[in-house]
Amino acid sequence: MPETGLSQRCQVWAVLNVTPDSFSDGGEAITLEAALRKAERLSAEGADVIDVGGASSRPAGATYGAGAAEVSVDEELARVVPDIRCGAPIPCPACTGTRFVRVARADRYGFPLDYVACDGCGLLFANPYYDAGSLDRFYMNYYAPVYGRTARPDLAFAGELERGRAVRRLVDSHAVTRGLEYASVLDVGCSHGGFLAAFPGNWLRVGYDYDESLFTVGRSRGLELNAIGGLDADARKFDVIMANRVVEHTRDPVAFLRRLARLLAPRGVIYVEVPGLRSDLVAHIDYRLMFKNAHCFLFDAHTFERCAARAGLRSEYLDETVRALLAPGDYAARAPAAGAAPGKAAAEFVRARVARYRPPGALARLRELPRRIFRALARRTGARV
Ligand SMILES: [Zn+2]
Repeated sequence: MPETGLSQRCQVWAVLNVTPDSFSDGGEAITLEAALRKAERLSAEGADVIDVGGASSRPAGATYGAGAAEVSVDEELARVVPDIRCGAPIPCPACTGTRFVRVARADRYGFPLDYVACDGCGLLFANPYYDAGSLDRFYMNYYAPVYGRTARPDLAFAGELERGRAVRRLVDSHAVTRGLEYASVLDVGCSHGGFLAAFPGNWLRVGYDYDESLFTVGRSRGLELNAIGGLDADARKFDVIMANRVVEHTRDPVAFLRRLARLLAPRGVIYVEVPGLRSDLVAHIDYRLMFKNAHCFLFDAHTFERCAARAGLRSEYLDETVRALLAPGDYAARAPAAGAAPGKAAAEFVRARVARYRPPGALARLRELPRRIFRALARRTGARV
């Protein structure tokens, strides 16, 4: 579904049948390749939602005989979900606990994943998660069709630049780089490079990411953007390191943060942003949208800080968005935010948020319109709302 759900134009709903006994298209899209090809065509033709059907609704009667056979939920999932497998369950990366409360059995797209809340600290994550081979297969074959790609890299770059300016203000207010004539900045998971462009043009500005096709705009603006494979061989140290919306995609957030810390110059800072479970920004959405298979981990400030601590980093700044400024140092573990039973409390928190959600009616969407216009204007002028 469209991420915001706020589009004002008519939405086009396309149906893609992957049933062997579909009566409307004769089972034409039964192989995975054929299904993906058709999904891409539907998307190119303007479909906003592609409804993947795994159970035929062929009715009984004179035309269709006995009608479609009932299929089990497992059979339906096997039909609509590609060949992606999970590995073995892992201990909690934030506290090494091994007792969990299950929160969800599938993500928002119906990919079969168990999301659990850790009893020791309340961290929510998919456990078990895809094994390494499946994760590669998912990012190579399915990520772009499921999550979409942009047709306007220049606009994507401009959006990143605007968010990068906010990052730079935060870094400047805490870091020794403030007022420095020359420093260096690294963005791991740099996407189009817009975040880097928010830092001064005479700084060393270096980015790494998987998809080199994103680099065109950034490179034309003088940024050094590289394929992620070269990161381990990069012997330079950086004064500022950024990882925007990356940690939640990794299979081991502690190992990833340790890797960033090794690239840090003395007295440098690491900026990390991950989607925050308790953020005001997501308080009113359909909470089930938070569970999407590309996000292995769902952090709040507390569980993120515990992961950072295990990587030898303490937070100089931390909010529930979640945005964090980290520096090497000891961290005294605070008591779990949720008291004696963090796993149960985290699961209750999610259930309450899901239960509270009511889809907005037409009148509510209309009332919301002036506020959205105001916010859009405010963003342009840099005002705070
Ligand atoms: Zn834990």
